[in-house]
Amino acid sequence: RKCLSLIQKTKFLNAYITVSEEVALKQAEESEKRYKKGQSLGDLDGIPIAVKDNFSTSGIETTCASNMLKGYIPPYNATVVQKLLDQGALLMGKTNLDEFAMGSGSTDGVFGPVKNPWSYSKQYREKKQQNPHGESEDSNWLITGGSSGGSAAAVSAFTCFAALGSDTGGSTRNPAAHCGLVGFKPSYGLVSRHGLIPLVNSMDVPGILTRYVDDTAIVLGILAGHDPKDSTTVQDPVKSFVLPNLIDVSKLCIGIPKEYLVPELSSEVRSLWSKAADLFESEGAKVIEVSLPHTCYSIICYHILCTSEVASNMARFDGLEYGHRCDINVSTEAMYAATRREGFNDVVRGRILSGNFFLLKENYENYFIKAQKVRRLIANDFVNVFNSGVDVLLTPTTLHEAVPYLEFIKEDNRTRSAQDDIFTQAVNMAGLPAVNVPMALSSQGLPIGLQFIGRAFCDQQLLSVAKWFE
Ligand code: GLN
Repeated sequence: RKCLSLIQKTKFLNAYITVSEEVALKQAEESEKRYKKGQSLGDLDGIPIAVKDNFSTSGIETTCASNMLKGYIPPYNATVVQKLLDQGALLMGKTNLDEFAMGSGSTDGVFGPVKNPWSYSKQYREKKQQNPHGESEDSNWLITGGSSGGSAAAVSAFTCFAALGSDTGGSTRNPAAHCGLVGFKPSYGLVSRHGLIPLVNSMDVPGILTRYVDDTAIVLGILAGHDPKDSTTVQDPVKSFVLPNLIDVSKLCIGIPKEYLVPELSSEVRSLWSKAADLFESEGAKVIEVSLPHTCYSIICYHILCTSEVASNMARFDGLEYGHRCDINVSTEAMYAATRREGFNDVVRGRILSGNFFLLKENYENYFIKAQKVRRLIANDFVNVFNSGVDVLLTPTTLHEAVPYLEFIKEDNRTRSAQDDIFTQAVNMAGLPAVNVPMALSSQGLPIGLQFIGRAFCDQQLLSVAKWFE
């Protein structure tokens, strides 16, 4: 009830698209009954959680923040949602995002932008007041980052203890960095994507947002494992993800990729990054500079592969099976076209257009196939570094702290979105686990996080390092 009342009090953040109050209260009642009867409890019994609105939830509207899916009520739960419910979690609601998870600001959904709770922190407000040119209270709120900004705001504002995000190119780690949270992207294939409405099937993974690394490990322990409904999940028996209390980092080799030192990196993030490296060194870890030489191609490569898969994925939204259908009935083609024009925003339409261009017969070899080859080179960069003895990579998560909304929307959003993902997208193309861990507050009083990247399927080791660091 306390979380529900916080949801009401923080409505202005626009973190939730749907609040499933009745569902949560009913689940809480059942949980209480189990507790009183002394029955065995699930790992999350009675714990409020939130779910990004691109995961299917049985009987609860699932919109992807798009006109296309407004009013769509799935008949089944995504595997990850079902697993959380099976452990007694209380579903507080569905969280806001960029339309179909395309973006890195949580500013582009049909329900409006998500506001970063840190915009209202005492420290940030005080700093702003010291600035005589600071904008007025109402207009200078900060973005959460995205696209899982609703999930990040929901955890950050204490309306739930964990939230599901999705991560295709950074969408869980980016808002976690901007909202001072742990944001984890598991190895591709460790967690089922069944019921996660796809953006880029070959890169999408469900992500986890929590306040502490241990909480992420608990949730990962519940979610991980083979799912017959997702053929890309691995068959390996599920290991435990419980993290040790005492973590020895002195035997670790930490790699610092030199290509990540880009000119756009803010000086504050840069100095925290080097401070973190010093911290590991002072504990006896080996810290070495490494090279990921194909990093400079990662944004453009992601763009080609992402839009190509989007073009294919979005074909299912034709006005017949799902959600929106416009009432033009001159011809089927006219109905398709008008439905898709009304249903998708210009970001989605733009990506469909680019993707179809790259997939044209005359472009396929030169763009799509070439991008797939470059993707392999990007992935091999990581393999080479890990084969040379590096255990974990340490990098920034974002170029800078959260920016005010008005600043974010000034530039062409799509260009900005691409630049902002410089440290996160390559990891998705390589399928590796990665996590944002909050490091410190900036001089503005805003959270800055750093990213750890691990070997494929060494998620537990990665989270142990993150826990030591937090
Ligand atoms: N910002 C990236 C994009 O718009 C990544 C989004 C995501 O991870 N869902 O494609």
